[in-house]
Amino acid sequence: MSRYWSDVVHGLRPYTPGEQVQMPGLVKLNTNENPYGPSPRAVAAMQAAVGDQLRKYSDPGNAAVKDAVARRYGLAREQVFVGNSSDEVLAHTFQALLKHALPLLCPDISYSFYPTYCSLYGIEAVQVPLNARYEIDVADYNRPCGAIIIANPNAPTGIGLPLQRIEALLAAHPDQVVVIDEAYVDFGGQSAIALLGRYDNLLVVQTLSKSRSLAGLRVGYAVGHPDLIAGLERVKNSFNCYPLGQVAQAGAVAAIDDAAHMEQTSQAIIATRAWLAAQMQALGFDVLPSQANFIFARHPGHDAAQIAAGLRERAILVRHFKQARIDQFLRISIGTDDECAKLVDALKAILG
Ligand SMILES: *Cc1c(COP(=O)(O)O)cnc(C)c1O
Repeated sequence: MSRYWSDVVHGLRPYTPGEQVQMPGLVKLNTNENPYGPSPRAVAAMQAAVGDQLRKYSDPGNAAVKDAVARRYGLAREQVFVGNSSDEVLAHTFQALLKHALPLLCPDISYSFYPTYCSLYGIEAVQVPLNARYEIDVADYNRPCGAIIIANPNAPTGIGLPLQRIEALLAAHPDQVVVIDEAYVDFGGQSAIALLGRYDNLLVVQTLSKSRSLAGLRVGYAVGHPDLIAGLERVKNSFNCYPLGQVAQAGAVAAIDDAAHMEQTSQAIIATRAWLAAQMQALGFDVLPSQANFIFARHPGHDAAQIAAGLRERAILVRHFKQARIDQFLRISIGTDDECAKLVDALKAILG
């Protein structure tokens, strides 16, 4: 608290990220980082970008990154916006496209940065409860609103919505922007990018942090109708004209172009996810069906916070949210096979 703070700062509820602990031998399954490294081509491109050319500013238009995204998804450059992480892309989206007289709708259990951005930008939000199976029911969104944002697959549940459900949501709200946050879509979800040609109210946000294993690079993007993208550009160029440096731009282009690396590593994570879910079910856990690089599970006979504490004593970190409805769940990122085997052994020891 400081008397020098603005009223806005007094009212903020900042996001709490998962812990970034450095410790030898730590099994870190708490922040949905990818256990496999980024594309070697991306690493080489970044190394080549380090040199005298850093004297100069980076391309403020992010043209090379936009073109890489456009190539990958069969879009035009004008349909792509690029930012310094998808969190930043989301922040600009909240300010540019989601603040209206009527409230923003989002799920009650979802990415907790959404309420944080609402507090930052003074946006009124209505949190729509997930159904009893922790799913988003798009019929629950048929109410007056200024805009809608959902994560698909949702976090921290991991549950995905099929494309027809997204399409129903878009068709029911032709006058509202509908944002689909696809941070985890490459792990088995269906991307709404396929619907862009038919819905000018759709904005899809993706990140290089999860499936492209570049959380430390901080690159994200949004795709949508050129008018939505132009709105985002206006906010971005009123905030920071050069959000991506040359190294990030070079790495992002190579990472997006190396689709084979992304698909191979994502398939490995999907296979490990199936193995881990089966192992945990055998130990008595309820495991929600995940299409993400984590699973969300609870044990009917053991307290989630206690399990998390027991894992921590064994140098394994998972994420526990002290939030109503989900405080008996643990969110466990999919690590390597070896890391997940260590987790299962530790769970066996803890559960007795
Ligand atoms: C990880 C995550 C993001 C943020 O990704 P960054 O690009 O690393 O900022 C956005 N949305 C959801 C749902 C996420 O889980």
